[in-house]
Amino acid sequence: MVVRCLAGMDFDSNVYLLTGEDPILVDAGTGMHHQDILKWLSCTAKKCKVRRMVLTHRHYDHTGGAPALAREIGAEVLMHPLDAPAVREGDPRQTLSYMFGVQSQPVEVTELREGQVLSTGESDYEVVHTPGHTSGGISLFDKVNKVLLPGDTVFVGGVGRWDLPSGNFEQLVGSVKKLLSLAPKEIYPGHGDFSQHGAAGILEEALKYLGES
Ligand SMILES: [Zn+2]
Ligand SMILES: [Zn+2]
Repeated sequence: MVVRCLAGMDFDSNVYLLTGEDPILVDAGTGMHHQDILKWLSCTAKKCKVRRMVLTHRHYDHTGGAPALAREIGAEVLMHPLDAPAVREGDPRQTLSYMFGVQSQPVEVTELREGQVLSTGESDYEVVHTPGHTSGGISLFDKVNKVLLPGDTVFVGGVGRWDLPSGNFEQLVGSVKKLLSLAPKEIYPGHGDFSQHGAAGILEEALKYLGES
């Protein structure tokens, strides 16, 4: 299995590791379970150094743990330019850290471009801009193996909220359609279950839920 999942504990997002000789961490949780993530990472990445951490979007349940984790493992933090400022500055309203009663910590962020390809040495993941849940939300897609990581755009049995700052219903619908057009097989969302065969059906369900099919 190329995508390894640490299921989100408490309010944490799922944390994924895309394996290979140059592995990529996807999302970091709130930081409440920093030690558990480090332990899981050392078992999962084995001797490979994790040099890159992709954040699917600005929300604290995905990014709160990033500053400490990036410092500890020496990883570069990567995300879309439209969500980067909120995380770079630790903006409590834009990251929603105020909902957790905490101040998010600022962190250095490198911006990703739509269409950029990140390779683990084993698989290639393309950056797909999928706004709607937030304006700078991204998904990662491996077109050879048809593996999709949609962040909070879509879940097994649901879709991401569009009523939070920078969220937009029409954009969310467009993003789900865009992901469906990629014809993914495996899907690893930001929360809850993942599916290794049913990605297309899950995206079709999401469109139905949004009243679009
Ligand atoms: Zn989330
Ligand atoms: Zn979110």
